[in-house]
Amino acid sequence: MVRDVGDLGDLGDLRDIGGLAVPGDPPALDDLAALLEELSNACGLPGDEREVRDLLHRVLEPHVDEIRTDPIGNLLCRRGGGPVRVMLDAHMDEVGLMVAGYADGGLLRVRECGAIDPRVLAGRSVLVGRDRVPGVIGLRPVHFTDPAERDRATPVKDLLVDIGARTGEEAAAAAPLGSPVYFSTRFERLSDRVVKGKALDDRIGCAALARLLTAADYPGLTLYGAFTVQEEAGLRGAQVAAYNLDPHVALALEATSCADVPGVTPPDTATHLGAGPAITLMDGTIVTHQRVRDRLVALAEEHGVPYQFRRLTTAGTDSGAIFLARTGVPACTVAAPCRYIHGPAALADLHDIAALVRLVDLFLDSLDRGEFSL
Ligand SMILES: [Zn+2]
Repeated sequence: MVRDVGDLGDLGDLRDIGGLAVPGDPPALDDLAALLEELSNACGLPGDEREVRDLLHRVLEPHVDEIRTDPIGNLLCRRGGGPVRVMLDAHMDEVGLMVAGYADGGLLRVRECGAIDPRVLAGRSVLVGRDRVPGVIGLRPVHFTDPAERDRATPVKDLLVDIGARTGEEAAAAAPLGSPVYFSTRFERLSDRVVKGKALDDRIGCAALARLLTAADYPGLTLYGAFTVQEEAGLRGAQVAAYNLDPHVALALEATSCADVPGVTPPDTATHLGAGPAITLMDGTIVTHQRVRDRLVALAEEHGVPYQFRRLTTAGTDSGAIFLARTGVPACTVAAPCRYIHGPAALADLHDIAALVRLVDLFLDSLDRGEFSL
């Protein structure tokens, strides 16, 4: 059931999945959107994931058998105690900026934290530091900018963030060196299916994983949910979490690039919004484990769950780090397509996220019933 590029049609009726959010079930999609809204509006730069972690802890504690935070900040959950150890991963951090210095007039100098295109930055509203001080990434007015300059992105090192401070001392008091700088975009539902928010990479994965940990039961499995730190800075939390949990198999639940817009043709589109979760074939950190990938495809075909392959071979996700843990872990990434990813406002389709949850649920169920061994 791989969808052709260009087919933005209905994903069909996938109601029968035992309490998980699905297309064709508006109240369940509303629940999914509500959780994603909370997660998207929370802030979590690499190394500053506390707000996201606290939120997930609150949501998950009543539903799991064990929940703890490891020494570097990963939130590790366990449900069940069956013989097959499965790790589901979603990273808590998002891309943003970090305060790196001060300029005359109480302005802040910044550096990237994670991969950000400088073209999306100038003029944006931001939140700075632990107290989430509002500010704006300064931009010279168009009246004082020569036409050649307007065609160029200002490098991040030349951008200045204005939080209304009048002196360097005032700025340093409100935003000490190392303070995180977040996009201030609030989550919105643009239609019954499409949502807009910051940090959908990877709060989509966090929401999907939270749904799987709270809604379903797999008695043959020890199901670990790992909400990891510092993915955007180099897949760091997942490396430690996978060593700790020692899983037999792992899936990273993600949001992934989607460039299905005019002027871009496959394979450069990478994925297509509304065409189902994307299974990674290869990226810069992993060629996904063939048997895991084949099983996901077989289950999607058998149960009519729409899916697509991610037609991009660059970048990387936590599955690349998990794959190399201990003596090696069979791993794959499944991701919801996300337009304008790593920018101040990304778009995603709730049906893709629901189908992602459905596909992972089928995979866990298949392992649970011993239909699939590695
Ligand atoms: Zn991600």
